[in-house]
Amino acid sequence: MDFDNTYARELEGCFVPVQAAGSARPRELFFNRELAAEIDSELPGWPQARREAVFGGNQLPPGAQPIAQTYAGHQFGGFSPQLGDGRALLLGELIDRQGVRQDLAFKGSGRTPFARGGDGKAAVGPMLREVLISEALHAMGIPTTRALAVVATGEWVHRERPLPGAVLTRVAASHLRVGTFEFLVARGDHVRLQRLVGYACTRHPSDEAAVDQAAGDQALALLLGVVRRQANLLAQWMGVGFIHGVMNTDNMSISGQSIDFGPCAFMEAHDPETVYSSIDHQGRYAYGRQPAIAQWNLARLAEALLPVMQGADDARLEAARRAVQSFDAVFDTAMAQVWRAKLGLPSGTLTSGVRERALSWQGLLLKHRIDHTLGWRCLAALAVNCEDPAATALWGQAMPEVRAWIAQWQHRAAETGGGVSAESMRLANPYVIPRNHQVESALAAASDEGDLSPFMNLLGAVQRPFDDGDGSSPYAQAAPPEVAAGHRTFCGT
Ligand code: AMP
Ligand code: MG
Repeated sequence: MDFDNTYARELEGCFVPVQAAGSARPRELFFNRELAAEIDSELPGWPQARREAVFGGNQLPPGAQPIAQTYAGHQFGGFSPQLGDGRALLLGELIDRQGVRQDLAFKGSGRTPFARGGDGKAAVGPMLREVLISEALHAMGIPTTRALAVVATGEWVHRERPLPGAVLTRVAASHLRVGTFEFLVARGDHVRLQRLVGYACTRHPSDEAAVDQAAGDQALALLLGVVRRQANLLAQWMGVGFIHGVMNTDNMSISGQSIDFGPCAFMEAHDPETVYSSIDHQGRYAYGRQPAIAQWNLARLAEALLPVMQGADDARLEAARRAVQSFDAVFDTAMAQVWRAKLGLPSGTLTSGVRERALSWQGLLLKHRIDHTLGWRCLAALAVNCEDPAATALWGQAMPEVRAWIAQWQHRAAETGGGVSAESMRLANPYVIPRNHQVESALAAASDEGDLSPFMNLLGAVQRPFDDGDGSSPYAQAAPPEVAAGHRTFCGT
């Protein structure tokens, strides 16, 4: 592996060196061969024993330089000036086979100076859960950090009950977070903050329009770039019903990738109020609130960047305010694009018309408590046959309303110069998501019984989300309503 560790080299004061605790009896549970081949030519050929030694934390790969990164963060709205990697380590950066710089990091590799009361460990279940969710997002074409390996440590970690421990190895465009900037500004360290801005701009260049708009102000260009990436990401999450669960500012990436999967889940019955996380008592991070929360987090990033922006105080404040506000327009455009694809509408369809169609469809989903994924997916079948048997079974008594909606939708599509395209809709509306009841049972089998086959089968299905062949259909069924209603997700920390 070819490491080139710019973070450790250039950002002194933003990390502490820490070694992994290692594993007593490392045993590989998951290895992502496809990802391994993308990041390193030799990695796919490593024997399992070597992978277990390295990804269990017992053997440092040459060139790695493990560090715990510092960060702060707004957690559920309240500011914590000192968080940092409590149970994670950045091993270093690899240049992948496309020439892209990728962080390689551990999660669950032992305590660091930022562990506070925690044990620095992770359990098998939550680490395999991160694999399922991130692979599902990736397969849907949604930017995300990815899991390279999960190695069971052969030790117990103590939560409500003893659970088998594991180390996850994660690949990410970087681990820079909104909270990385908040950490430095909270300490009044504007010299390092300026350096971090330069570093982030090199690692995650903003698009040309953002750079032009910022007119030489690097911090503003960065802010505009993050606003755009996050607005696009949020639109994609919303399209597939993804609920992050803990959108604290320390869990929001600068790169625009989905990161830090805790109690995340895919929504089942469509409802903007949906919350699964056991720790989100107020519904702060409910499905429908996610775009507004992302913008709130970006306002915290803007505040952190203000001291290193250019110009007089009021001009900086105004530029930062406008940058945060620009989230709305970017999000609306991105959301319309997502919906246009989901509705199979021609590219010329006006944004306002797309929004109206999508919201009225989702209004029907909400009114009749229809599964978000199946409700959207059935549109492709209904486009061809408005008496499609599976769709008719899904909607039941509500079919007359659905038929009326379909007639209007097709009429509008015809008006804008083309019919709806069922084929393109099948590539925009996933058939398989990681269903909560199936995720839970696959993780329980892996964690409690050491049986990985349900996990592997489910993983195979979520890696082909648009495939509706016979092999996929067992994974596409909604949970019985009473199961779905009671579902809770846990951080597992
Ligand atoms: P999270 O909500 O999982 O992103 O974690 C928030 C903060 O708690 C981060 O600083 C984590 O490193 C830290 N943390 C979470 N779980 C543990 C643990 N088991 N041991 C030490 N630190 C932890
Ligand atoms: Mg986190």
